[in-house]
Amino acid sequence: VIKCKAAVAWASGKPLSVEEVEVAPPKAGEVRIKIVATGICHSDDHVLKGSLPNVEFPVILGHEGAGIVESIGAGVTSVKPGDKVIPLCLPQCGECSYCRNPESNYCQKFHFSEPQNLLPDKTSRFTCKGKQIHHFVWVSTFSEYTVVPEYAVAKIDAAAPLDKVCLFGCGFSTGYGAAINTAKVKPGSTCAVFGLGGVGLSAVMGCKAAGAARIIAVDINKDKFAKAKELGATDCINPRDFKKPIQEVITEMTGQGVDYSFEAIGHRDTMIAALASCNMNTGLCVMIGELDSGSEITIDPTLLLTGRTWKGTLLGGSWKMRECIPKLVANYMDKKFNSDLLITHTLPFAKVNEGFELLRAGK
Ligand code: NAD
Ligand code: ZN
Repeated sequence: VIKCKAAVAWASGKPLSVEEVEVAPPKAGEVRIKIVATGICHSDDHVLKGSLPNVEFPVILGHEGAGIVESIGAGVTSVKPGDKVIPLCLPQCGECSYCRNPESNYCQKFHFSEPQNLLPDKTSRFTCKGKQIHHFVWVSTFSEYTVVPEYAVAKIDAAAPLDKVCLFGCGFSTGYGAAINTAKVKPGSTCAVFGLGGVGLSAVMGCKAAGAARIIAVDINKDKFAKAKELGATDCINPRDFKKPIQEVITEMTGQGVDYSFEAIGHRDTMIAALASCNMNTGLCVMIGELDSGSEITIDPTLLLTGRTWKGTLLGGSWKMRECIPKLVANYMDKKFNSDLLITHTLPFAKVNEGFELLRAGK
């Protein structure tokens, strides 16, 4: 058993509490990882607010991390102690029908199919003050050590800087993959990205990498525009600067609407605006943002009747996580893109709540 620090969420709506926890050794088929760095994704904040389904408190959140294998359980063959890894919040069991489908990345062991509050044997490896603490999507990266099933671990280049590639555990892969895999953005096309947080900016990078001719970045926080331009946005617009709905502004800017639109916020209104911003015939809108669980959207069906496509995406569309994350890291090492530009602040672990404050303040 390892004693270490972790940020425990005792209840929804409360700040995290950095505590000493005990982390039990990995059982058969599991890997214990020393987490070196973790990002904060807005989805962690959704969970804290109680809006992601099936999460049980107390819980250790965090799902965008990178670390080093500390020990392995019986039967683990794909990693060994000392390997650099990214724990995967979307596993790849390799056996379910979705894993066997080359076009999908959703694994039936993912949280939406089977809650991942406990490890597959239905026990937890975390305790704090004598109480069992739940895992979060199996990865729980807000802990100095965590235990993860082997099929939720990707081994990466030994030279990779963990404080940079931790973003590949969620935000970067999600946004970049939404453009490359889910939308399959074509060279010369026009795109609109709603929301310029880590996910939306990664979608901007994906549109640019795919050769989009015009990338319209949309946010109510104009402080995000400089970074969006640096990453490839050609136009940056703030819906609050216009009297008319933003979908009308985008339609006028482009003639018929964009070829591809992305919603990386998680609000009903912006999801509908993003859908209406892509052209009525061949336009494709990708929903990335997460709405509160249980919420519903009502749309005018003629938005789809004329041919538009509305799609969702999880962790970057068809990235099969165990295979694709090491390749993305290799591309990063080859300088094919610079995801370092997404990193705004680096804080010591004890200041994790300050990190959430910065996220909420749009910093
Ligand atoms: P973030 O908080 O860093 O960024 C959100 C951005 O949206 C901010 O810049 C904010 O100013 C902007 N915004 C808020 N309201 C707006 C409005 N009305 N109009 C225009 N812009 C507005 O969040 P993030 O970490 O980038 O995550 C974005 C969303 O993606 C979240 O809902 C998150 O849960 C979701 N997400 C989904 C997946 C997936 O696999 N589908 C993965 C990760 C995150
Ligand atoms: Zn995330």
